Amino acid sequence: MAKPKIAIYWCSSCGGCEEAVVDLAEDILDLVQKIDIVLWPVAMDFKKKDVESMSDKSIVATLLNGAIRTSEQEEMVHMLRRKSVYMIAYGACSHLGGIPSLANQFSREQILKFVYEDGPSDVNPEKTRPLPSYVDNGRDLTLPKFRNVVRSLDQVVDVDYYIPGCPPTPEITKNAIGALLEGKLPPKGTVLAPDIALCDECPRKESKPTDLSFTEFWRPHQKEIDTEKCLLAQGIICMGPATRAGCGALCTKGNMPCSGCFGPTSRVRDQGAKILSSICSNIAPKEDEQIDKVLAKIPDPVGTFYRYGLAHSILRRKVSLPTNGE
Ligand code: SF4
Ligand code: SF4
Repeated sequence: MAKPKIAIYWCSSCGGCEEAVVDLAEDILDLVQKIDIVLWPVAMDFKKKDVESMSDKSIVATLLNGAIRTSEQEEMVHMLRRKSVYMIAYGACSHLGGIPSLANQFSREQILKFVYEDGPSDVNPEKTRPLPSYVDNGRDLTLPKFRNVVRSLDQVVDVDYYIPGCPPTPEITKNAIGALLEGKLPPKGTVLAPDIALCDECPRKESKPTDLSFTEFWRPHQKEIDTEKCLLAQGIICMGPATRAGCGALCTKGNMPCSGCFGPTSRVRDQGAKILSSICSNIAPKEDEQIDKVLAKIPDPVGTFYRYGLAHSILRRKVSLPTNGE
């Protein structure tokens, strides 16, 4: 009997999600006995035309990591959507826009100007930038279009399931692939991780006070952290209350705060706004000047509260940027 066909593809990605597949370790040997990988550019030499020549819906599932920023990525995800029964957003960038979508605070022009002209390590007196197309010696080179905004996968094509994390852990990857192969998938649109907050699986939860009262915030390197006490209770911003569980509390067990990579639970519309409103309502001082002093200790609020989900948040992008990616 033919084995189910699986595609693995990356868009605006750091490569960590590809590593996460390899992190399955010896389980990957068991997996390749059960599936037929038809596209995995980082590891295997299949060509785009190989997939284009396949009939629609002949791939059981595409696991797609990375956010969507370029015209080439759009073309690939539309093609893979047509060829696949299930389109699965794999990892925080694909699920929510991820770290690449922090660039939505800036326009395309601001980004190109900084990268090619103003960056501290730039040496580019001619202010040369990549051209969208270039003809040299009769050969025509065309580059993909760099869009104005970064989008999550479901802002470009219909998505069936989400595997969260930056990157997803081997455990939730294995469980998701197992559910797929056994035909035990939950309703369409489900995030394939427990629908509870990270605090519920954190070993520090017993020390999390019901009433927090912040007088000061600290970054993890600025103080000696109690290895057992709730990090929020120590004045360290921890995204645990607004973040979905399922990672096994890897960061808080390692004495680092949760940075929110599993995204929100199904009951939270905007992960950043949720934790921000909770923190702001627990600031101890009541006078504006004192409140400002406490809040000033939180560096880079967008990068702290929307590190993985700016594209998917209510804010989504700098107000002046269009939503369709152009
Ligand atoms: S989710 Fe994290 S590990 Fe995966 S591509 Fe994005 S930044 Fe990299
Ligand atoms: S350390 Fe973070 S995840 Fe753990 S209980 Fe406190 S707030 Fe929740």
